[in-house]
Amino acid sequence: MSLFENTLKQIEQAAKIMNLDPNVKALMEHPQRIVEVNIPVKMDDGSLKVYQGFRVQHSNYAGPYKGGIRYHQQVDMGEVQALAAWMSIKCSVVGIPLGGGKGGIVVNPKELSVGELERLTRGYVRAIEPVIGPDKDVPAPDVNTTAQIMDWFADEYSKLVGHDAKGVVTGKTLENGGSKGRNIATAQGGVYVLDEIAKEQGFDPANTRVVIQGFGNAGGVVAQLLSKKGYQIVGASDSQGGLIFDKGFDPDKLLACKAEKSTVVNCDTDFGGKRVTNEELLEVDCDILVLAALENQVHAENADKVKAKIVLELANGPITPEADEILSKKEIMVVPDILANAGGVTVSWFEMLQNADNNYLTEEEALQKLLPIMVDAWKAVNVNADKYSCTLREAAYITSLERLEVKIKEKGIL
Ligand code: NAD
Repeated sequence: MSLFENTLKQIEQAAKIMNLDPNVKALMEHPQRIVEVNIPVKMDDGSLKVYQGFRVQHSNYAGPYKGGIRYHQQVDMGEVQALAAWMSIKCSVVGIPLGGGKGGIVVNPKELSVGELERLTRGYVRAIEPVIGPDKDVPAPDVNTTAQIMDWFADEYSKLVGHDAKGVVTGKTLENGGSKGRNIATAQGGVYVLDEIAKEQGFDPANTRVVIQGFGNAGGVVAQLLSKKGYQIVGASDSQGGLIFDKGFDPDKLLACKAEKSTVVNCDTDFGGKRVTNEELLEVDCDILVLAALENQVHAENADKVKAKIVLELANGPITPEADEILSKKEIMVVPDILANAGGVTVSWFEMLQNADNNYLTEEEALQKLLPIMVDAWKAVNVNADKYSCTLREAAYITSLERLEVKIKEKGIL
């Protein structure tokens, strides 16, 4: 099943429960525009290579298209379409005035020199320039794309349009118009939601064991934030495998060790952790499992082995629809990606506003501004979960689609 088929299944499920207008459903099932480009890049050895790139604009009913750009050798159109649709749904769950888009280039960036990466990025901007812009479509970083790449992106676009237009992209360095707080916003948004759940369920962080799949940007920061609140972080993994620590570990130390030794697995002797495979990590007995790696990690074959009581999806699409059903039958609470990781796009929206205003927030102000947005979204999703007796994922889709339906109808699009 392609990732986009998963998305369609999720829309279908929610549409059935809420009795969504079939015309609105049809709009959400089809991206508005799909752009495919071929980007010629002069390599360092003088040869020329042509890279395939995509930009999918799923919907702009709520505002300009918004969504990251992924540089990966396995990027394909189905994946980009799914990620673009999830952006439309996600922005609407948190009620921010943005639509959904996503982009990608089929490339392993680790094989390129810095100069080649810059020329590839600038070539991609020239290729998609007609369809992007600060009020039209605003890309951002995603897997393997960095603040440096976003700075090149903004510079190339500004040159093409002949004026400073840094608002064409978010996730830039602070020196070039990035927002303070953006690097921790995704994890912080998830933690704000967990705080609400902790209040409702009355659990004590000191007795709550957390395992993190994907000890990267989102996963590393969530470990730091939860550890500061007193949670016991007992396991972490990256693409090379995982480590578990019966008595918990200090995320700052593991992050420092990973930076030095390239993977958490090589840090086993440093803190007395036990090596486990990526599969085994998902099966560890814990209270909260944070999924912060990639898509399709929990699937029909391993969902039954998950022992956590709560699963927080910081990655996009880490649980397949089949696995969702299994987790729901096991009464495991899944906090869905379109809510749990929406803090990232919300602070990206703050970056757009700051660029337009040329007036910048402190980190504290940005994260304080994020808090009520996440809490309100959590409450709205809960109201629908109760109203329709459905899962949090279904309720998040319903919340989002209800809002989009109103916008689409009021605009007279139908
Ligand atoms: P990242 O590349 O910094 O981190 C991903 C981590 O996952 C890496 O440590 C990698 O080694 C690890 N990993 C890869 N395969 C794995 C596997 N099979 N098992 C365990 N670990 C594995 O990326 P990131 O920015 O932290 O993003 C992670 C996920 O969160 C992605 O799905 C991304 O789309 C999503 N997301 C991120 C943000 C953000 O602001 N960073 C916002 C929204 C969604």
